[in-house]
Amino acid sequence: MKIICLKCNVEISKQVTKLDDVSLLNENDGEAYIPEGFFTIEKFGERDSIIINLKDLINSNHHSDESRLNGCCGYDGLDGMNRVCVNKHEIGTENSECWMPHYIALDLVLVKLVK
Ligand SMILES: [Zn+2]
Repeated sequence: MKIICLKCNVEISKQVTKLDDVSLLNENDGEAYIPEGFFTIEKFGERDSIIINLKDLINSNHHSDESRLNGCCGYDGLDGMNRVCVNKHEIGTENSECWMPHYIALDLVLVKLVK
């Protein structure tokens, strides 16, 4: 499966497979929450989101609104979505601070899984 931006259909992830073995999820701060090559669907805030490894995100930039990009050594994702596709559509939130597990949460209202 791949993930695309719903607005412009650009691919925003590498090939990813649903993670069936949840014991592979890693809650340690500062480390990748999910192994590369996998996705899982979880609630992020109020919304259902696709969670992937930071390294599986492609064709994406940080948000042009700098108030969304807070963090001491990474991005804390506490100020709204901080990731956009190459065509500047909001797609989700990067969580990459030292005090949290690292992942991207892609909002299921804005992106779609495709074969
Ligand atoms: Zn887009």
